[in-house]
Amino acid sequence: MLSESVTRAGQLAEHVDVDPDRIALVIRDFPVRINPYYLSLIRQPGDPMWRQAVPDPVELADTAGSADPLCEEARSPVPGLIHRYPDRAVFLVSDRCAMHCRFCMRKRRVGGVSRNDRIAAGIDTIRRTPDIAEVVLSGGDPLMLDDDRLARLLDQIRRINHVRLVRIHSRMPCTLPHRITDNLVHVLKAFQPIYLNTHFNHPGEITERSSAACVRLADAGIPLGCQTVLLKGVNDDPAVMRRLMRGLLAIRVRPYYLHQLDRVRGTGHFHVPVATGLQIMDALRGHLSGMGVPHYMVDLPGGGGKIPLTPNYVVDKHPGRWTIRNFEGRHFNYPV
Ligand SMILES: *Cc1c(COP(=O)(O)O)cnc(C)c1O
Ligand code: SF4
Repeated sequence: MLSESVTRAGQLAEHVDVDPDRIALVIRDFPVRINPYYLSLIRQPGDPMWRQAVPDPVELADTAGSADPLCEEARSPVPGLIHRYPDRAVFLVSDRCAMHCRFCMRKRRVGGVSRNDRIAAGIDTIRRTPDIAEVVLSGGDPLMLDDDRLARLLDQIRRINHVRLVRIHSRMPCTLPHRITDNLVHVLKAFQPIYLNTHFNHPGEITERSSAACVRLADAGIPLGCQTVLLKGVNDDPAVMRRLMRGLLAIRVRPYYLHQLDRVRGTGHFHVPVATGLQIMDALRGHLSGMGVPHYMVDLPGGGGKIPLTPNYVVDKHPGRWTIRNFEGRHFNYPV
């Protein structure tokens, strides 16, 4: 499936209605990759799946963002290991993905070459850093590694005593669910406890295939979370967001974070104001299962870390009592 991905402008124009010359300019800066499965989810020009996958000339017009707004490179003791929080580190073990999302925060990195010696250096640093109790495998997409490579990597991590948890960040259950094979699940199961956070952005991505992939992982005892990105023209609508969150719960994926998009160059057309994000959060809380309400996270520029933003429910503070509104907007006195 992966080898049949669309990676050139001419190829793309055979499948969707785009001008190959303009696309060729965009993908010089920001490469394209759409695998046949994800391509099959696109229904019409500009729909939510199209927006996530198909290069858009406006990407080149965005000069506001920076290539690395979170200063991740400054937080890396070795290339590919980001240690920003005391007890956990993100380990970038692959530079590739099953699809290149147009809004990707690691746009500068995706599409490049992967380097094996980086992995060895990362393992070494984790081994020498007893504070690291959790390793978050990310990338690119860590499930781009084949099962043998992945098993060897997990084995090396598991042998480090102070690492208690392994978390895998993979969009594969959504973008190429065929990757979630019996053998992969078998490999993962051998290295429990393993948590897997995936990434769905629109209810149209919840298909028979992706549902089966998630259920298969859940059946193996791997808790699944979802890190959705708030994206203009994709899910910046309370009704769409509610459908997505309910759909995820139904396939045994627990919504975890709703990310405010970082200001990465080439992604400005996906930007949703924080005020809109908060309105969407307001439309979730109370209106669907609390298990389906993610935390709305902003990543502070300059490496400050992720912080949750919540709609303001405290309307007024008096001595001894606060006025708090509920999800319907009614006000209540609450003794404090
Ligand atoms: C997001 C992130 C983590 C994981 O954070 P959680 O809030 O535990 O999901 C860890 N390290 C870095 C550098 C991150 O960006
Ligand atoms: S799968 Fe994740 S890392 Fe890969 S391109 Fe999409 S958002 Fe970026």
